[in-house]
Amino acid sequence: MIQIPKGCKDVLPAQVYAWHKIEDAARAVAEAYAFKEIRTPVFEHTELFSRGVGDTTDIVNKEMYTFLDKGGRSVTLRPEGTAGVARAFIEHGLAGGVLPFKAYYLISAFRYERPQAGRLREFHQFGCELYGAAGAAADAEVISLADRFLKTLGLKEVALQINSIGCKTCRARYHEALKGYFAPHLDEMCGDCRSRFEKNPMRILDCKEEGCKAIAAGAPRMLDYLCDDCRAHFEEVKRLLTAAGIAYTVNPSIVRGLDYYSRTVFEFVSAAAGAQGTVLGGGRYDTLLEQVGGRSVPAVGFAAGMERLLMVMEAEGCMPPADMGPACYLAGMDGASREKAFLLAEQLRGKGISCEIDLMERSIKSQFKYADKAGAQFVIVLGERELAEGAAQVKDMRNSASECVKLEELADYIQRRL
Ligand code: ATP
Ligand code: MG
Repeated sequence: MIQIPKGCKDVLPAQVYAWHKIEDAARAVAEAYAFKEIRTPVFEHTELFSRGVGDTTDIVNKEMYTFLDKGGRSVTLRPEGTAGVARAFIEHGLAGGVLPFKAYYLISAFRYERPQAGRLREFHQFGCELYGAAGAAADAEVISLADRFLKTLGLKEVALQINSIGCKTCRARYHEALKGYFAPHLDEMCGDCRSRFEKNPMRILDCKEEGCKAIAAGAPRMLDYLCDDCRAHFEEVKRLLTAAGIAYTVNPSIVRGLDYYSRTVFEFVSAAAGAQGTVLGGGRYDTLLEQVGGRSVPAVGFAAGMERLLMVMEAEGCMPPADMGPACYLAGMDGASREKAFLLAEQLRGKGISCEIDLMERSIKSQFKYADKAGAQFVIVLGERELAEGAAQVKDMRNSASECVKLEELADYIQRRL
């Protein structure tokens, strides 16, 4: 038996409606903020991610699905959505077009991780990218979009946490302070953190090892090192969120897993997502476009993990009702009525009414049983007498009432009663 690869999941028809609910909410809310969908390839040149995501991140160091194609090029299945959008933006010269550029994506992404609840090797993301706007209103717009999206799903127990991690200027001072703090603890810390100490000490704050977390708890806070511009920017983001009625708390330990963030970072966190508490994360990344080869263009965005959203929706009772059956089941008896059922179903489908007929050569009794199980709202019986009269017996499965309806009036009758 060939089985599904580790860390991947099938979405069966019975589960797909919850996915549609997320995708429909994502599209509707993104379009309400005038974001348009963008689609980029599932794989890119490996260098895009090592430059864009950053080579001191776990993603680039440990988690990428990288391979050589038959032409000997190193390619990587995308571990996230931002780098590909940034590449497309640069490649198509969109920085010279109308700004801001606002795009959203619904994608699968790939990371070689240890699979557990809410942590998969193939997972799915809804994300937004806003390029060209440096002001705090852009940060607030993107956070508001994320907040509205989660509320549209019906989620109530997801909390917004925000932080500022400053810019290149103020972070240099902060890095020195962090190094001073961590230096005496280095031999108690994990190997990864020892190399983070050299390359990017702020990354230590994102370590998931208990020992490192305990040490990091006492570390200096970036918020105390912000330069005047970064502080003003952060204050303005907070002011706009408050004015819009969006609740948040400031969490100085959020630094995000990617290298390219600057200034605003944020996460929407839920206890229902278990150990993987973050369902949506984002922030500002003003240096990313330059890093992947474009000119300097400010950028802000987020990505939400769809599998984690499903976990939280389940826990909060926000799943859509179980799959609805077809509107009509057309029962057939002999050859003539089966053919009539087939043709009538075709007509009704043409008018957008979902129909099913018997494809299993069941008896009339078993057809009724099946229609009931399938959740059909109406069963339409085409018996000899009805056919002779150009009519059908329509049974409403909700109250078992039956009515004789003329065939030419059938579509209207069903549409009225649905
Ligand atoms: P974590 O700290 O949980 O590893 P991350 O910082 O690596 O998350 P991001 O790169 O910011 O995550 O991705 C944004 C969102 O995508 C996360 O908040 C999460 O909901 C989702 N996500 C990330 N990695 C996975 C994964 N392996 N499986 C399922 N969802 C994921
Ligand atoms: Mg991760």
